[in-house]
Amino acid sequence: MYVFPSAHTQFQPCYFIYQKHPLNVTQCQHSHNLRNTPKVPRELALDHPMFDEMPVSDKDTFTWNSIIQAHLASGDLDLVISTYRQMLLRGTVRPDRRTLPRVLTASRLRGDIFIGKQLHGHAFKLGFSSDHYVVSALIQMYGSLDSVDTARWLFDKSPHRNSVSWTVLARLYIMENKPGLAIDMFNQMVESGAEIDSVALATAVGACGMLQSLQQGRKLHQIATNCGLEFNMLVSNALLKMYIDCGSLKAAREIFDQMPSKDVISWTAIINGCVKKGGFNDGLKLFRQMIMDGFKPDPLTLSSILPACARMTAHKHGREIHGYLLRNGIDLNLVVQNAVMDMYVKSGFIEYASRIFRGMKCKDVVSWTVMILGYSLHGQGQHGVHLFRMIETNSSTQTDEVTYAAVLHACRTACMVEQGKFYFSCIKASKAENSSLMVALLARAGLFDEARIFIEEHKLERHVEVLRALLDGLRNHQQPVPGKRVIEQLCELEPLNADNYVLLSNWYANSARWDMVEKLRQTIRDMGLKPKKAYSWIEFRNKVHVFGTGDVSHPRSERIFSELQSLVKKMEGEGYQPNPDFSFHDVEEERECIQIGHSEMLAVSFGLISTQPGTTIRVSKNLRVCRNCHNSAKMISKIVGREIILKDLNCFHHFREGFCSCGDFW
Ligand SMILES: [Zn+2]
Ligand SMILES: [Zn+2]
Repeated sequence: MYVFPSAHTQFQPCYFIYQKHPLNVTQCQHSHNLRNTPKVPRELALDHPMFDEMPVSDKDTFTWNSIIQAHLASGDLDLVISTYRQMLLRGTVRPDRRTLPRVLTASRLRGDIFIGKQLHGHAFKLGFSSDHYVVSALIQMYGSLDSVDTARWLFDKSPHRNSVSWTVLARLYIMENKPGLAIDMFNQMVESGAEIDSVALATAVGACGMLQSLQQGRKLHQIATNCGLEFNMLVSNALLKMYIDCGSLKAAREIFDQMPSKDVISWTAIINGCVKKGGFNDGLKLFRQMIMDGFKPDPLTLSSILPACARMTAHKHGREIHGYLLRNGIDLNLVVQNAVMDMYVKSGFIEYASRIFRGMKCKDVVSWTVMILGYSLHGQGQHGVHLFRMIETNSSTQTDEVTYAAVLHACRTACMVEQGKFYFSCIKASKAENSSLMVALLARAGLFDEARIFIEEHKLERHVEVLRALLDGLRNHQQPVPGKRVIEQLCELEPLNADNYVLLSNWYANSARWDMVEKLRQTIRDMGLKPKKAYSWIEFRNKVHVFGTGDVSHPRSERIFSELQSLVKKMEGEGYQPNPDFSFHDVEEERECIQIGHSEMLAVSFGLISTQPGTTIRVSKNLRVCRNCHNSAKMISKIVGREIILKDLNCFHHFREGFCSCGDFW
């Protein structure tokens, strides 16, 4: 800590104490906002002969201020403080109303209230304690380093308020997560007759977005139009974001389309809005347009668009974007690398995700979690558990509840009961989701008694997800009798969920109890319930082809079915026999359609007849794949010598040479 006497002649000597502080990253980022000021070479800073040669006149304050400003703009906060100190020591010029706000900003960014308070004292002595520039800077400094109440006190005391001080206070309220008070500030400002500027307006609009108050937001939009500020970039971007935050993508799109000029922030906001609402194709179209218009996406744009590609049918777009990033040498920060990895996991390319993971110089808890869960979803649970052990032994990464849930998922996939029990015990506030995973693990291992005890101990009897996890295990282990009991429990707990009756009906269909099947079908109809239809889809030549059960609506339907029939013949030649299963989805069509007429088989068949031999077939399904289709897909992969990747409700099945990556448990 250094103590410097103030050498200024205009006010009483005081001590300016200068304490060195490490500069943190966010502070540097803040200072980036202060653009347009040339960076001063370090040698110009202090004690340089050039400084001594500077003429001593009243105009010198301007020079000092310029140097202080330049240091501030380049983030050299220590130099701002020491230049100010020099200014005082030389005593030839007086700090003015422009000097103090800059040094106050530096003290705020350094997190140094001690200097800030001294500057407040200087402001008094120099007679600037009512100056609105200085007061606004003081409000901001106190608000950031002390409390918003202190800032408010100062604001209430100040005789002259302008839009800057109102806005500074509004922003402080936003930082305190009190958007309602920020809007109050704006309204009071309007009532006081202060001039409405773009920053004040954009701040208030942002507060409406936080509150998700479309009504308030629209009011401010009207004010913006009346003031002619609607298409000020700052204001339009704030309006755009506000409409998205309030869930009105349509209004956001209108603003966006009307904006005479846009920047990366506008493009990112609208892309993010579309993707979050599930408008993946719109998001991708906008992203392409953005590139064509010459904008370079930033990490935020990239982490907004990549989730739109995290699907099997969008894998080409995802790879295209990744290629674009690599070709253009765009800096892939950790967030973007994680998003690229997640995109590859979810679009079926676990190997690519793994390559990126291995190549990452630094990884955070998200990177590890994405990869652990990724391995698990792709049937490689052991790899997932191994990664988790690596975090425990080698890495400084702090695991969180989500990582534990991911490793529990991996234990379930790999059927590692003891490890699963251990990791479950590590989760402090266990959610029902984790209990379901635990039940799924026990059921997968065939430990049904233990699973029941676990359910009883944790009082999960009335939890449908847990019961479904148990049912999956019973189904995999072909345990129809207890399976039926669980289905009946589900019907009791969710009497209006048609899928439960479909499960029951399918169970009877498997036992050839057609009278009961008919009865249940009638029940579903009488209750006016609509069972979920099964669909599968596949992308071919930039088009997504969707199939339902026994679907004959596709233009190439005849060829699709004949291909399937010929495959069935080949399978029968190899001794294929359909397996009993109680997981048929479409009770209506079940008895009419051919042996392997389920939607996923139609999509696979379409893939086989449409693509070159050897090409991997990638199909997605909205429900769980049934045992018959699973067996068929395994055999088909062997017969045609291709990999078939089928993503169903639970996981990715990689069918290769007659085997599936899930090890027949899903
Ligand atoms: Zn099926
Ligand atoms: Zn499988």
